[in-house]
Amino acid sequence: MPRRLAIDGRGYANLARQVRSPNCDARPAGTAITLLVLHGISLPPGEFGGDGIVRLFTNRLDAARHPYYATIAALRVSAHFCIRRDGALLQFVSCDDRAWHAGASTWKGRAHCNDYSIGIELEGADEVPYSAAQYAMLARLARVLMRRYPITDIAGHSDIAPGRKTDPGPAFDRARFARLLVPARRRS
Ligand SMILES: [Zn+2]
Repeated sequence: MPRRLAIDGRGYANLARQVRSPNCDARPAGTAITLLVLHGISLPPGEFGGDGIVRLFTNRLDAARHPYYATIAALRVSAHFCIRRDGALLQFVSCDDRAWHAGASTWKGRAHCNDYSIGIELEGADEVPYSAAQYAMLARLARVLMRRYPITDIAGHSDIAPGRKTDPGPAFDRARFARLLVPARRRS
């Protein structure tokens, strides 16, 4: 039996490999977490399985290693979670803190989505189907987060930064994800 996924009292997922990112700070006092933001990322773009994402989120990306890295190595960014192609879960920032994943963003007229959201990166690319293991872990994680925090909405990065961001891309099957979320909500 796989262990039950849970978020501990400090905002960390018990089944995630924990990698601390310095790219975070406190949420504004009294801000409820009401939004999940879904992202897609691969480093280098279109290549899976390497250490680029971990390096980017921990400010250790080697700008000389790939031409694209030179354009992003100075960024100070993070997300709370990343789900790799095999479904493995990584966590970089406590859910209670503010990760730096959304950038300039607005959801339903409210700006600064980082303040009130949890960011989940799926290792992938806009046009490459995400894996079954990723959908399964994403649904599992989203269910646990929705029980723990007063989350009312789930949006893609492209929804909160239209024209600037395209991830998680057309490859992300929103209907499939929605179907995976529903049964467990009934069960719980
Ligand atoms: Zn994104």
